[in-house]
Formats: sequence, C-alpha cells, structure tokens
Amino acid sequence: MKLDFHPESHMMTHGYKPELSEGAIKPPVFQTSTFVFKTAEEGKAFFEAAYGLRNPEPNEELGLIYSRINNPNLQILEERLCLFEGVEECAFFVSGMSAISTVMLEFLKPGDLLLYSLPLYGGTDHFINHFLSSIGVKSLGFRPDQTKEEIIKMVDESGMAHNLSLIYVETPANPTNSLIDIRMCSEIADHFKDQNRSVYLAVDNTYMGPLWSKPHQCGADIVIYSATKYIGGHSDLLAGAILGSSDIMLRIKTLRTFLGNRASPHTSWLLMRSLETLKLRMEQQARNAKKVAEYLRGHPKISKLYYLGFLTDSSKDYEIYQKQYSSPGAMLAFEIEGNEPEAFRFLNNLKLIKLAVSLGSTESLVQHPASMTHIAMCPDLKKSIGITDSLVRLSIGVEHFEDLIKDIGAALDAV
Ligand SMILES: *Cc1c(COP(=O)(O)O)cnc(C)c1O
Repeated sequence: MKLDFHPESHMMTHGYKPELSEGAIKPPVFQTSTFVFKTAEEGKAFFEAAYGLRNPEPNEELGLIYSRINNPNLQILEERLCLFEGVEECAFFVSGMSAISTVMLEFLKPGDLLLYSLPLYGGTDHFINHFLSSIGVKSLGFRPDQTKEEIIKMVDESGMAHNLSLIYVETPANPTNSLIDIRMCSEIADHFKDQNRSVYLAVDNTYMGPLWSKPHQCGADIVIYSATKYIGGHSDLLAGAILGSSDIMLRIKTLRTFLGNRASPHTSWLLMRSLETLKLRMEQQARNAKKVAEYLRGHPKISKLYYLGFLTDSSKDYEIYQKQYSSPGAMLAFEIEGNEPEAFRFLNNLKLIKLAVSLGSTESLVQHPASMTHIAMCPDLKKSIGITDSLVRLSIGVEHFEDLIKDIGAALDAV
C-alpha cells in the first residue's frame, strides 16, 4: 500500500484483511498456538523461509507456523507501530524489560563494553549491573552534563575502547526530564567503530515516543519502548517494543523466537485498540500537563519544577529539545518546600490522582522517586541528578485539567 495518509488514519485498518476473518471489521483474537498447513509442501516452504534457507519470493509474507514465531495479531500490531515510527520493522515483547534485555543479549557478548546514560530505568540498571556484569560484560555510565569530548576521553581511559559494542540511552531521563543528545551519541558510536567492529546506538524512547520524538532520525539504530506506558496507555497490560532496520530486526526477532518472549495474541489485540487512540490520548495529556505546569510554576509551596515546556532559550537542554522533540510531553516532576514528610503529606492527600508507579496512562499517577522507583540508586548519584526527598513525579492523564489542578491544590494546602 502506498502510505500517503497520516499514521493515525491507518491505525484502525492497516495490515488487516477482513475477508480472511468472515468480514469482521476488527481482527479477532487469534488465540491459537499453532496453524494448519494446507499441504506438506506448504509447511516445508514456510519453514525454509522462516529459517532463511531460501530467498523469499517477491511480496511473499512469512507463512503462519507457530505462535512463538508469528501470529496475526502480533504481525498487524507490529506493522502499525512501524507507521508511527517511520521505520522498516518492529517487534513486540511481553514487557519493556524483556525488549531491553533481548537487545542487550543480542548486541553484547562477554568481554564487550556497554556505554550508557545515567540515570536509567531501575530494571535496566539492575540488568546491567547485576546480570550483565556477572557474565563478563563491562559497562560505563555517563551523566547528562558530560560533553562528547569528556565521554570519549572516559571510554579511552577505561582501556576498553576497542570492546565498545553498544551505547544505550534513555532520554528524557526519569524522573527529572534531563536530556541526552542522541546525535552526539551517534557521533560517539561512529568515533569508536571500525572495519572489524560495529557500535550500535539504542534509545529507550518510552517517555516521548512514538509521537513526539523519532530517535532514528537523530541517528539511533534501535528504538525501544516499554509499551506498558503511553503505547498501551490504560494501565491494563505489560508489553515492550523494538524498532529498527530489517537487518537489525532480523537478529532481534531471531533471538525472540528462541527466548520465547513475544507479546501474546490477547496483549497484541489490546495494543491495537490502544494505537487507535494513541495520538488523541497523548495530545490531551500534553495539553493537560501544560495547564498543570503553569499552575505549579507560580505556587508558593513548589521550590523546583521539571517540565520541558519551561526550558530557557540559552540552556543546553533547550538546544537538545529543539532537535529531538516536538512537544514537552506529559511528565512532570517537582520539589515541594520541605522534605520527605511534606512530600508524603502531599501524596497522601490527593484524591483523584492515584499513588502508583508507572506512567503514560489515561489516569494521572503520582509517585515519590527517592523512596520508590529510585530507592536502590546510590545516594551520591541520586543527589547529583536531583532526586531529593521532596521530589514527586507526576504522569498526567486525560482527566479535565481543572480537576487535576483542584486535586493538586487541595493536597498542597494540606502540606
Ligand atoms: C517502565 C519502563 C521500562 C520497563 O518496562 P516494563 O514494561 O515495566 O518492563 C523501561 N524503561 C522505561 C523508561 C520505563 O518507564
């Protein structure tokens, strides 16, 4: 199909053939483990294609064999997310962590070096520093305030520069929205690659994608999502996604087949529903976040506010923001005058906004990073990136913004 419509216009129908499902307007849930071959010859041909033992015919689609390899719900979903991201291939997983660990296992071998941005999502950090380290993968973290030259120097001085295989970046970083320059990271990858060694750049785009940021256009090879967050958007499922070029995705999908960690038919079906309203939801969430941020900015009990819409023209983050993002998004963090008791009083007095981790859902969620999502982080790092005891993180939903402000205002009054 020639794609001259906007991605959101394709989300209801793309990749689905009603004539194969009794004319049903929506895809049924293909809740099946295996698929019947018409003939033994067909089964053989499907396997040959799946195992790369022959070149596929022009326009040949991979035949359905077994749901760990492929399933119609999964396939339609993957084709649709590709349209939003503007890349060749996509793979969905049972969770964001499953997507992240699959990338790291595919692109890092014992003895390799991983370079990553700080801070990372807690689960990702744990996988690097507890699992990968135990199988001999070395790693180095860099902070958002380090320059390209400083990072290259740090890698050189580690003595492991010739083992660098993967650069892994999370931006905007959780919870304070600090930004990492993806183009700079791609230049660092280019600096260290040679004829014998590829250095890939992976970006966790959970916070801003796929609507407001397209890391591929800034030089990323691999884009990763926790689809549990904005893509799923209803706090009712766990999933992850990876997007990239066909050659990279062939490696990732092959490992997925053998790890057996692809998203289920039912989860894929739910995610197709989610994609239909992704743009609507995220735009409403961003509008609400702007109103809430404007309210918080003038509030006497707020001592610090992290919101990408308030970056100043002269800052380094503003420069990166201009290159990488088309909206400030719907994630806020702020410090309340005081300490943990004041932050907790605020959290305990919210009525509409729920106290829970996770983000990107239709309902607004609030949490306390220092004692919750970032509790295991080393205290020095916590301090250096602004995770104080009075910091709270807010994920804005689709409620009426006046009600969100009313709820926040009443809880601040109780502090
Ligand atoms: C939630 C999250 C993850 C992990 O995803 P799960 O779906 O919970 O496994 C990874 N990265 C970021 C930025 C996240 O917010």
